[in-house]
Amino acid sequence: MTEELPEAAELIKDFVNTYDVSSGTDELATSGAMSGWFAARGLMAEEAGLDEPAAAQIRAVREALRLLLLGHNDEPVPREALDTLNRAAESSRLCVEFTPEGSVLACRSTGADAALARMIAAVHSAMADESWSRLKACRRHDCRWVFYDQSRNRSKTWCAMGVCGNRTKAEKYRKRHPHAAASV
Ligand SMILES: [Zn+2]
Repeated sequence: MTEELPEAAELIKDFVNTYDVSSGTDELATSGAMSGWFAARGLMAEEAGLDEPAAAQIRAVREALRLLLLGHNDEPVPREALDTLNRAAESSRLCVEFTPEGSVLACRSTGADAALARMIAAVHSAMADESWSRLKACRRHDCRWVFYDQSRNRSKTWCAMGVCGNRTKAEKYRKRHPHAAASV
């Protein structure tokens, strides 16, 4: 099945998945890699660059988003995750701008702050439609991959049933049946 995601939801999914929990690989491990990632998506000018404190804040926002998306899988969302997003919205100077057509979320900043503001704006816009509630982080503790749940009743729990769902089922089975063959 090909996934047709609204633009904002796709951006959030790609952003959170730049860190692969299961392998520990981080596409945004350096500030240079991070500015390249944002520049490739037109979210900031690459030459503007990022310093390490800005990169650290962006990584913190990424993990806060992962916690919020885990909340769509019935995990409690820690208050600190919301605090992290609120601080980012404030420090990136995200604001509402009124235009002849209506209003848009805009930012009065450049560089890393602009990238951060646009990411927060994407979260706000995804929250305004149903796409936000369909974005979920995989419930499996060592996966946490973000996926878009297209099921009619939004019942998906695992990133890919064939992988994490089956691994979790096999572990539960082994716990209940400790003497069963380990090759489940
Ligand atoms: Zn998974």
